[in-house]
Amino acid sequence: MQPAAKAHPSATLDWDALDALKYQDEDAAVAALLADPPLDAAARASAAAEARALVSKARSLKRRKGVMESFLEEFGLSNAEGLALMCLAEALLRVPDEETADKLIAEKIRTGRWAEHLGKSDHWLVNAGTWGLMLTGHMVKLPEEMKGEAGEVVAKLVARAGEPVVRMGAMQAMRILGEQFVLGRTINSALKRGAGMQRSGLASCFSFDMLGEGARTNADAERYQAAYERAVDAVGTDASVAEMRMPSAVSVKLSALHPRYEARQEERVFAELYPRILALAEKAKGHNIGLTLDAEEADRLVLSLKLFERLAREPSLQGWEGLGLAVQAYAKRTRAVIANLIGLARRRGTPIQVRLVKGAYWDGEIKRAQMQGRSDFPVFTTKAATDVHYLACARDMIAAGGALFAQFATHNAHTAASVRRMAETANFTSYEFQRLHGMGEALYAALEPKAPVRVYAPVGGHEELLPYLVRRLLENGANTSFVHSFLDDDVSPEVVAADPLAVIEANPRRHPRLPPPPLLYGASRRNSTGRDLSIGTERDAITKQVQPLRPEPASASPSAAAQAVAVALAAQREWNARGGAERGRVLRAMADKLQANADALTALLAREAGRSLGDAIDEVREAIDFCRYYAAEAERLFAGATRLPGPAGETNDLELHGRGVFVCVSPWNFPLAIFTGQLAAALAAGNAVVAKPAEQTPRIAEIAVALFREAGLPAEVLQLVIGAGDVGAALVADPRIAGVAFTGSTEVARAINRKLAAKEGPIATLIAETGGLNGLFVDTTALKEQVVDDVIVSAFNSAGQRCSSLRILFLPKDTADDVLETLTGAMDTLIIGDPADPKTDVGPIIDAEAKANLDKHLARMAKEARVLKQIDVSKLGGNFFGPAVIELSSLAQIDKEVFGPILHVVRYDPADIATIGAELAAKGYALTLGVHTRLESFAEAVRAAVPAGNVYVNRSIVGAVVGVQPFGGSGLSGTGPKAGGPYYLPRFAEERATSINIAAQGGDPHLLNL
Ligand SMILES: Cc1cc2nc3c(=O)[nH]c(=O)nc-3n(C[C@H](O)[C@H](O)[C@H](O)COP(=O)(O)OP(=O)(O)OC[C@H]3O[C@@H](n4cnc5c(N)ncnc54)[C@H](O)[C@@H]3O)c2cc1C
Repeated sequence: MQPAAKAHPSATLDWDALDALKYQDEDAAVAALLADPPLDAAARASAAAEARALVSKARSLKRRKGVMESFLEEFGLSNAEGLALMCLAEALLRVPDEETADKLIAEKIRTGRWAEHLGKSDHWLVNAGTWGLMLTGHMVKLPEEMKGEAGEVVAKLVARAGEPVVRMGAMQAMRILGEQFVLGRTINSALKRGAGMQRSGLASCFSFDMLGEGARTNADAERYQAAYERAVDAVGTDASVAEMRMPSAVSVKLSALHPRYEARQEERVFAELYPRILALAEKAKGHNIGLTLDAEEADRLVLSLKLFERLAREPSLQGWEGLGLAVQAYAKRTRAVIANLIGLARRRGTPIQVRLVKGAYWDGEIKRAQMQGRSDFPVFTTKAATDVHYLACARDMIAAGGALFAQFATHNAHTAASVRRMAETANFTSYEFQRLHGMGEALYAALEPKAPVRVYAPVGGHEELLPYLVRRLLENGANTSFVHSFLDDDVSPEVVAADPLAVIEANPRRHPRLPPPPLLYGASRRNSTGRDLSIGTERDAITKQVQPLRPEPASASPSAAAQAVAVALAAQREWNARGGAERGRVLRAMADKLQANADALTALLAREAGRSLGDAIDEVREAIDFCRYYAAEAERLFAGATRLPGPAGETNDLELHGRGVFVCVSPWNFPLAIFTGQLAAALAAGNAVVAKPAEQTPRIAEIAVALFREAGLPAEVLQLVIGAGDVGAALVADPRIAGVAFTGSTEVARAINRKLAAKEGPIATLIAETGGLNGLFVDTTALKEQVVDDVIVSAFNSAGQRCSSLRILFLPKDTADDVLETLTGAMDTLIIGDPADPKTDVGPIIDAEAKANLDKHLARMAKEARVLKQIDVSKLGGNFFGPAVIELSSLAQIDKEVFGPILHVVRYDPADIATIGAELAAKGYALTLGVHTRLESFAEAVRAAVPAGNVYVNRSIVGAVVGVQPFGGSGLSGTGPKAGGPYYLPRFAEERATSINIAAQGGDPHLLNL
């Protein structure tokens, strides 16, 4: 076992301690803000008055609105047109082929009611007949009478797909939108434009940001490093910058400097990323300009602070005042971060720059916490709490009296006025305001007396600007956003500049529609929680539980298997008679047992089944979710008889009951989740169970069965039979059994099916979930980085040993080379090794036989197709197999599922989707299917061409969530029904209808009492 990553030796502050505050209770955090408000009553009143005055003044300024503000006023994110434009903006400029670009324009424009916006805005560009006309009106001369029918005109024009003029218009529109936010395509053009802005009083100085997605490969990181170096040199040597009142700066995203900038990879980040950021900082110091680390996701906060501390203590950077970082007020632990930074600055003896923002990743933080089953969110759930917390953070920074150089980044009049009030009261001058280029111009123009304002200035071409643009659209288009209504005369200054303290005083509770993640599924089913591997103590909690495997439990003999059936059979009636509610109670208790033992189970999954810790955490959560979901289903479906409508004089009832004894045969690849899921379903429906786990993973099965018993399940009702295929075969052939739930290969499912057909006794039910030849179709509208992230997860997580794993990636011929270059580069950053080490991404193959099959397949493919990449794992030995990518010349080269980290790639033309989809469908599998596209019509075409049980659009194709994505396929992939779905339990049950002639006793009292 590897020790958990420790803080770097040069770090002296306990940054890890901040993790204890990450998911703190929000109501308590808000109560603390209210108990010690950042402004007293008098300051509150004057700040609010100033904020209102600022709004009124900004509205009266001549040059008050930019295109962006006017655009948002007309097209927020609450209308279809705004959303359509955001989709277009995000994707259009990267589409290389005209045909797809035309389709995208046509599809997005058709979704809107453009005519309704005609003439509403007071900005000429927005008003140029709305965006619909922006696309066309500038390019095509419209007859006067048609101008009122903008929507139809656009529709007609666009319907003639391929019309270059429409495409050019749309592309131009996106560029215009983009250019509102980008200061220049290159650092030199940005510097030139910036100098002009500075002269006209629109900026005091700048922080330049080199746009781009985070690095996925080492080559990406090197490219960004070079771009940052060029930017630092250009800013540092620019004459106009030198003349500015304050030194300009460069902002750096650490995620651009390393493809694995993650807490789990701390040692590697210090070894490889740190020298890069140090080199940039030394260069910036040499030029006497600033360098600021942008704030990113909450999971990266502690790591970024450790890196920052090391920079702050670096001898070569002593005395330099330009070192800075951003902190986010939407995070609940930020005041503790600021307190540590103040301490750090004091010890350093030179101020550090701290940019206080509210935070740009709020929606992402909410989603991640929900998906990963965190105990709560790391961020506040109400905008007002973030606003007040911002002011509390600002007060702390001001109170540090110059230890920090404070940079207040906001476009919100109330926030700016309040900060200013606090600074004045404290006689604090060591600060500046910051705004994003393209936003907040009117606010700071209205602010009197003038304050220094630094403009955050993104630099980049259209390609790089898209994610940034969408982030800004999302941020500003939301109706909670200040910018959204700032310059809208219909909203009074009192409303726009409302005091957030008054809002939380009136309602101090967290957002009612965003309950903590454990309550995501409401009262009937608590969501499972999972350890957060970005937190050191949580990683340690699991790794402490990793132990050498104890000896395997002994295999049962065929006679013991028969005896197990007999015991289960004898116990089934009583268990069935207990009813759904009682059985549900046992399953819920089992879920709680699993949750309580999650760390030990996670560690055992890593040891016995080779699951990486991330996969193992997800698996334990899935097992818990199965138990709670089937408990709720048992309560719903097995609560008693359902009265059916019928004639007077009789009652007609329908009831569900267990069938008898179910044999549950489960695989090694999900030795806890599938094992527990099958058992929980069969038991919930009132069956007794004989469980036969995979021979490779008996220990996990033994523990799960012990937990079921501790949870109150009578021992006889669940019999565990350990053994190889012969034991399973004997169980399946037993004439007394009523059904089999099986997950495994298609071949074994067929063999079981034949055995069941041949046996005496009840005609048995078979519920089988087998393999898949799962495809993912990409078109040219997809974002390469998202595709690569999702392909890596889908093909290589769990070493490709999931039935849902991606087997064939279909890449459009126009962008295939580019995607493959990033994909193979990203594979180089994967860590393959001991699955119990938190750093590991990919563990071993389950056994030598499975590995030999992969070796054989790869050897065949090396002859028949082209092996593009295989990660070298020769040093690891054992059952490790290096993830590989193989390019096929034809789909005919593969017919069967190959169970491991081998990804096949086929180049295709998305226009041929019907043909190629039919070719894939003809292989007979129908399990998972992925699509990466921004075109709904393309996603539809893929779905129509390829039948699949589970379709995933613009995400990975693995990791189905119980009750959310019911899982399972058809054809060669299984019998259905779907596990974790509403039709699963009834398949384990038999129906009994009872009809009673109540008239036989003399009459129907209900009828007579009508
Ligand atoms: C110069 C500059 C640099 C920046 N650098 C960074 C950076 O490094 N990292 C980064 O993450 N962001 C950064 N930002 C973006 C910044 O986070 C947003 O621009 C900022 O949040 C908008 O705040 P506001 O006061 O202008 O607007 P407001 O409209 O007053 O606030 C909007 C913000 O409130 C928060 N919010 C919205 N709804 C809710 C809710 N329901 N619950 C809780 N909070 C909510 C979000 O943070 C949202 O962005 C930077 C901004 C500027 C101006």
